[in-house]
Amino acid sequence: MTNKSNGDRVALVTGANKGIGLEIARQLGKQKITILIGARDERHGHEAANRLRDEGIDAHFVRLDVTDQMTIEAAAAQVEREFGKLDILVNNAGIFIEDTPPSQLDMGGLRRTYDTNFFGAFAVLKVMLPLLKKSEAGRVVNMSSGLGSLAQTGDPDYEFAEVNALAYNSSKTALNALTVQFANELRGTPIKINSADPGYVATDMNSHAGYRTVEQGAMVAVRLATLPADGPTGGFFDENGALPW
Ligand code: NAP
Repeated sequence: MTNKSNGDRVALVTGANKGIGLEIARQLGKQKITILIGARDERHGHEAANRLRDEGIDAHFVRLDVTDQMTIEAAAAQVEREFGKLDILVNNAGIFIEDTPPSQLDMGGLRRTYDTNFFGAFAVLKVMLPLLKKSEAGRVVNMSSGLGSLAQTGDPDYEFAEVNALAYNSSKTALNALTVQFANELRGTPIKINSADPGYVATDMNSHAGYRTVEQGAMVAVRLATLPADGPTGGFFDENGALPW
């Protein structure tokens, strides 16, 4: 990674080696933002960064397993050393591992889901916050899901009402709470933090059953990552606007 002491913006995207995360990284990179590809697998992370560099994007791999505190702290130390600040954090890494109704869910699956989707996002945000505070306009995007909306999943007519996945859905509800609580704490600072719903996107997470492209799915996160000073904070959005909690 080359040292950048100028005012260029720096973005860290977790789980950016593939799927929506890689596309968020690409779209931010095309806006001349320096991209840090957070990935737990070294080979996949380097490959993703190389792909973006081939497209003219200033992309670098940062090893980051959101369930491994040591890699999070090492990543923050690396960002501090190389850039001295972080302008954008996209908490995108996530897993969907259950295939059972709530009554059949085992505790291990519930905990593993939370470890990544909620505790992981919290751990990364907590460690990166001092670096975000050094930015003139820190932006945090938590990659949530429409399935995290209690208003939507509580409605039998909701498009995805049959996806009654307690671990995944509630981990995203908790992530939405994290958005609100941090936004409350950071109100009065330049930092904005919002939750994004990309819609049903064809990725490995759903064996490419989603009907939206990664390009479409990434757009809302990119918009929230680059909000102007008068933009919202503490909200939950898809590409059409605000979503119900
Ligand atoms: P994906 O293709 O499966 O990508 C998930 C990414 O998260 C991968 O890069 C994966 O890395 C990474 N990841 C998982 N656990 C990690 C960990 N402990 N540390 C670091 N990285 C980790 O899925 P996707 O659809 O792009 O999902 C991206 C985000 O969008 C997720 O938060 C998901 O919940 C959310 N979302 C997706 C949809 C959809 O329809 N696809 C809808 C709503 C929300 P590995 O390659 O190493 O596994």
